Amino acid sequence: MDKRFFDREKPALPLRGIHLDLKGLPPTPKRLLQLPLLLAEAGLNCLLVEWEDTFPWQRYPFLRGKTAYSRKTVELFLRQAQDLQIEVIPLVQSFGHLENVLSRKVFRNLQEISGCVSDLCPCRARSREVILHLVQDILALHPPLKYFHLGADEVGSLGSCSECRRRVAASGKADLYLEHLEPLFQFLHQQGIRPIIWDDMVRSWSVSELSRLVRQADLMCWNYAADPFHRLPHETLEKFAAAGGRLWAASAFKGADGPYVDHASIQVRLANMSAWVQQARKMKMVGAIATGWSRYNTFVSPCESLEVSLDTLVLSGKIAWDGYVPEDVSGWVSAFLNHCQKKGLPTSHFAACRQAAEKLQSWRETIFQQSQNLLHLACLNGEVERLNPFSLRQQRQALKENLKQGEKLLQDWVRCHRGLVPEHWLKKYALSRMGPVRRTVTLVLQATEKIG
Ligand SMILES: [Zn+2]
Repeated sequence: MDKRFFDREKPALPLRGIHLDLKGLPPTPKRLLQLPLLLAEAGLNCLLVEWEDTFPWQRYPFLRGKTAYSRKTVELFLRQAQDLQIEVIPLVQSFGHLENVLSRKVFRNLQEISGCVSDLCPCRARSREVILHLVQDILALHPPLKYFHLGADEVGSLGSCSECRRRVAASGKADLYLEHLEPLFQFLHQQGIRPIIWDDMVRSWSVSELSRLVRQADLMCWNYAADPFHRLPHETLEKFAAAGGRLWAASAFKGADGPYVDHASIQVRLANMSAWVQQARKMKMVGAIATGWSRYNTFVSPCESLEVSLDTLVLSGKIAWDGYVPEDVSGWVSAFLNHCQKKGLPTSHFAACRQAAEKLQSWRETIFQQSQNLLHLACLNGEVERLNPFSLRQQRQALKENLKQGEKLLQDWVRCHRGLVPEHWLKKYALSRMGPVRRTVTLVLQATEKIG
């Protein structure tokens, strides 16, 4: 890294990382191998990797997605990170958000509620064994690890099946939750690895329940709002600390401003990241990770791409190093990305990607509004005499024209991502953006046809 881009001689936080969520718009192998260099240049030294269906799973190869990486690519990526002294923390879900596993026919019997593909039932005989196999697969390909993230967030249906209900009645939800995780913790301890889980399931726990947990695992505390401590109050963090918890901060540099947005809200991301860095310093947390969600869950469309978020990605490093947001944000970003490009780290596509994403998002917002306005105009209930056929015809025509405009904007978005994300996923993204718009416009045009 070039110290000219940072104010402090030494970083404000010991571990400064981002989360690479590979379950949506995963980078091409070539792009994946460039990322550790970019992160190191931005002052980051930690990488939380959620491989999901991009991992070359061995025990259950059917969990690999269409563009899963080869073992060779994963090895090269991990070696690259190791050479740059980047602490890699793999993330394997162990309780909730197991959509990629529980939607497979062979694992359906492990669902907590039949048909609900996200949560695992901790009482089924094979549940923990399957998770353990996934963890072992990951360990086999990674160099020796210090940390392993087991997820365990948003287990919404915990304690729902008859056996789990019986156990909750006997010893409580915290006990049920911990009894599932503890053998996994112990397995990791035996390898000299410290487990981490997300904090949301344990926020209401008592200090004694928390003490049992934090003896065994770190807590990664997350909230992605501009003021993260509105919904996750300081008192909760203090309770975690009072129980003896080793805490991590989790902000978001992308993927937290709505499941279908095309670009992040930079002001919200900066406020969120700097609030967490300050809190992490104050509480002497282990480190801070800026998450980069690529889908809200496996079963929804991808949100904004990594390439349109390169500004907040590199700023996450700057903020975690200096402890605050630079005064001239856009000046710093543009100088830093230029510097990276000159060093051979491709970033010059960022401006085009961001512009394409902004235009696409603005177009989608406009056309949905336009469709709504046309319906309002056509549905002057009880005031038929005020219907203006000329205006209706004009607006219907404008809507049709605007739909064509969207195709061009999508092509622009796809063009500037080419080579960075596999074609398969670029097509899926385009469909996810155009599909709902086309359907809405078609329905609105049909509904207003006779009136106009
Ligand atoms: Zn159950």
